[in-house]
Amino acid sequence: MPTDPRYSILFEPVRIGPVTAPNRFFQVPHCNGMGHLRPNMLAAMRGIKAEGGWGSVCTEVTDIHPTSDQSPYAEGKLWDDGDIPAVEAMTRAVHAHGALAGIELAHLGLAFGNQDSRMAPLAPSHRSIVLDEPIQARAMSLSDIRDLRKWHRDAALRAKRAGFDIIYCYAAHNLSILQQFLLPRYNSRSDQYGGSLTNRVRLLREVLEDTKEAVGDRCAVALRFAVDELMGADGLRCEEEGREVVEMLAEIPDLWDVNISGWPNDSGTSRFTQEGFQEPYIAFVKRVTSKPVVGVGRYTSPDTMVRLIKSGMMDLVGAARPSIADPFLPNKIREDRLDDIRECIGCNICVSADYNIVPLRCTQNPTMGEEWRRGWHPERMNPKRSDDSVLVVGAGPAGLEAARALGERGYNVALAEAGETLGGRVMLEGALPGLAEWRRVADYRILQLQKSTRVDVYRDSRLSAEDVLGFGFAHVLLATGSTWRDDGVGRTHHRAIPGLEHRPLFTPDDLMAGRLPRGEVLIFDDESFYMGGVLAELLVKNGCQVTLVTPFPVVSPWADNTMEQGRIQGHLLELGVKILANQRLSALDAESAVLACSFTDRESRLHTDAVVLVTERSPNEELLLQLQANPAALHDAGIKTLRPIGDCFAPGIIASAVYHGHQAARELEEPEDAIGFRRERIIVIG
Ligand code: ADP
Ligand code: SF4
Repeated sequence: MPTDPRYSILFEPVRIGPVTAPNRFFQVPHCNGMGHLRPNMLAAMRGIKAEGGWGSVCTEVTDIHPTSDQSPYAEGKLWDDGDIPAVEAMTRAVHAHGALAGIELAHLGLAFGNQDSRMAPLAPSHRSIVLDEPIQARAMSLSDIRDLRKWHRDAALRAKRAGFDIIYCYAAHNLSILQQFLLPRYNSRSDQYGGSLTNRVRLLREVLEDTKEAVGDRCAVALRFAVDELMGADGLRCEEEGREVVEMLAEIPDLWDVNISGWPNDSGTSRFTQEGFQEPYIAFVKRVTSKPVVGVGRYTSPDTMVRLIKSGMMDLVGAARPSIADPFLPNKIREDRLDDIRECIGCNICVSADYNIVPLRCTQNPTMGEEWRRGWHPERMNPKRSDDSVLVVGAGPAGLEAARALGERGYNVALAEAGETLGGRVMLEGALPGLAEWRRVADYRILQLQKSTRVDVYRDSRLSAEDVLGFGFAHVLLATGSTWRDDGVGRTHHRAIPGLEHRPLFTPDDLMAGRLPRGEVLIFDDESFYMGGVLAELLVKNGCQVTLVTPFPVVSPWADNTMEQGRIQGHLLELGVKILANQRLSALDAESAVLACSFTDRESRLHTDAVVLVTERSPNEELLLQLQANPAALHDAGIKTLRPIGDCFAPGIIASAVYHGHQAARELEEPEDAIGFRRERIIVIG
């Protein structure tokens, strides 16, 4: 039971059909870029969540048959018995800590093109697949439907043999054939599976009943159901058919896992959604069913969790991202260590890993995805190797994390920061529109440093090379960050843009320091992620007329990977930002800005009062270069190692700086390993 009785309710067991969850912390299914390709990493990652106190831990979407093939994405597979050992590794890892293991069985219907299996996708009716590939799905015959039911049943039996306690049927995220049958936009059948809602819900009902009949003696059967698609009349709405479906199936599943569809809505970022953003949609579910309900909403506050339970909104508090950012969140609540919770910042870098088919990563939790391959534990560092002391220069995300983690290893650390404020770019960017939650990256680490007896923090301490040499630390980590370029060099331009002297010129650093342009402003956004769009919003809010010029076809194209691109572009258009896509700023002259088409080089002209260049950053490496220039002085000063970390080593996203700071802390005085991590190896047969 928890130290603080206010939170006792969160640690009560919950009966789910034939099984009992040891507490109310429920890691809902989430993708991870590991899937069937990296089963060892995956099992270790899920096991850590169970160790950290999540009472139920689930897989990602798991395909049940080759006609549901998400290649090239790395999701789960349970096509035949040969896939059992891989998923069994996960159930063993989860059971080792007394948690329940759940599996999200799925057939994706017309969501994907079956690019690996090369089988024609299946759908309620003849339709194009959802992805923009030149592939159509074919309408299922009644015998196809019988086959699908058998595949699902067989997969459920396999999952039971693999040791799962909770077996999902899946009708969410615009990714499931069971959902596609429900939706008139995909289902124009005229048989008993089309037309009325009773007919469209038939397949979902049958699959639920089949699953219960096949495995319900020992396994709970959960239904993940999207109650609303946020599409208005074009989609399912919670006040209409969404509710009716819950009413029709109310008592069939042992657990209702409810959310909003598609995935970008379910995993909204903090730029556009707040904690608890799904509550207005899912609130009705518990009033309709007597079965336990789980939902999500980026919940990190135990007080909010208690409210959810007490108000009758949920029985289990679901989490994907909060469990990624802090796999030990439940244990920290139990031990009354709320200060130690690493709260998710809602940035969706985790999602980007899945989109890019690489192992899960997290801005807040640098150990995420490294549990097996590097042996990193989120709550335990390797002990120090000596009594040497360490100087960390710069308190941005890299320096803060390095100092925190080194202190945890047992080293005595001095952290010197030039400014009065700790947090570096995180504090500056966190003041930009929509990014306030990003400051949690600094908040968590600053709190940890305040509690540490090993780390001394020095503010207002800009260090020179002489300072560093004079202090006598054995190890020096430089985390001095980076500076936005003011010459236009970046991905598009490899030389300075001519004529920049003709207009007042600004970089993101200027704007973040409060130096703002006026009037008509041209932003040249060559960066591809968030900065250009966020600055456009800032300038509009400060009364500027903003034209965003980008060489890409859309604003912030990489934000597709965080599922934000569409929202960003829509938001900017709503704000009145003029977007000129497929254009580069090629020069400025006394009259105007000269733009050039990305495809034809054809030029056009635009009046502007000022220019903001969002291109790329240069590392702040002066201190590093000065120190490296004199190895004898380093030696005489007793400095054994000197290492640049974070943006001063290679400018990148915040997640990279945190990761690099953590890595440097882990590796200090450790033997070097050429690769540094284990790999999942394919076994060659024959
Ligand atoms: P990163 O993302 O790599 O952590 P940031 O740019 O966020 O980098 O942070 C770098 C921090 O280093 C800033 O807070 C900056 O004030 C500080 N800094 C830069 N140069 C020095 C220096 N010579 N001495 C102390 N602090 C420095
Ligand atoms: Fe949260 Fe960002 Fe970590 Fe994802 S990457 S879990 S959104 S902090």
